[in-house]
Amino acid sequence: MIEHHTIGEFTLTTMLDGIFLCSTDMITAAASDEGAALFKRAGLPAAGPSPEPINAFLLKKNDELWLIDAGCGRELGPRFGKTPAALKSAGYALDQIQGIILSHMHEDHIGGLVTEDGSAVYPNATLYLAEEELAFWSDKTSPEHHPVMAQLGLFTLAHSALRAYQGRIKPLPANAQVMPGVSMVPLHGHTPGHSGVQIESGGQRVLIWGDVIHSTLLQLRYPDWSIGFDMDPAQALDTRKRLLERLAHEDTLVTGPHVTGIGHIHCCSSGGYELKLK
Ligand SMILES: [Zn+2]
Repeated sequence: MIEHHTIGEFTLTTMLDGIFLCSTDMITAAASDEGAALFKRAGLPAAGPSPEPINAFLLKKNDELWLIDAGCGRELGPRFGKTPAALKSAGYALDQIQGIILSHMHEDHIGGLVTEDGSAVYPNATLYLAEEELAFWSDKTSPEHHPVMAQLGLFTLAHSALRAYQGRIKPLPANAQVMPGVSMVPLHGHTPGHSGVQIESGGQRVLIWGDVIHSTLLQLRYPDWSIGFDMDPAQALDTRKRLLERLAHEDTLVTGPHVTGIGHIHCCSSGGYELKLK
């Protein structure tokens, strides 16, 4: 599935890399009457799970081609890793991608950067990511401080991505401009350097908010409901609540790697927020 949006001189294309099942094991607060009500209202079993997208984005300006996140590759199994095929079916070759902006270095965002033999899927691309994110995944002491993540292979994958793009990695300070009209937005908590990407052109503004939300069904209605993958749960929660409150009062379109469609955040009369699709 592919969706195109025009933002001034940019075209943003959402590419569905795969669908994951967001369960109450991941968002434990959803194992509740409130969770059951949301699941049922969406036509799902009362105990969930909720099917949610994993997206990568193509950002095009004239003949410049960029990605924002890269999908899972083979990390989560054969039902995922559809981004390269989506690019090709849109008429682009993988070696035309010149830059890849990463929200963070979890497997569903970077697994698609490397082939099975460890080489770069996008041979001409430079990686752009927050300097805190690069520092964390590059720090040799991080795996011993985060043994569960190490067991899951997250450091091995991050290191293989950094190796494949060695010499073509640009760490960016908070709020840095990646190119005119495109900037990093620090949204830390999910990971140490977790960032959104803001695109502004022609009087329009779009925020790709990374993993601030993993399930729009559950976490917009109940922003307090966190996912187990947040590395600093208190900071991630604070980031989500502040961002949603801000977005509810400004004219910014939002989408994300785990959001279907693009739209505006509104306060919901019954509590929480809703995404009104454009
Ligand atoms: Zn994710």
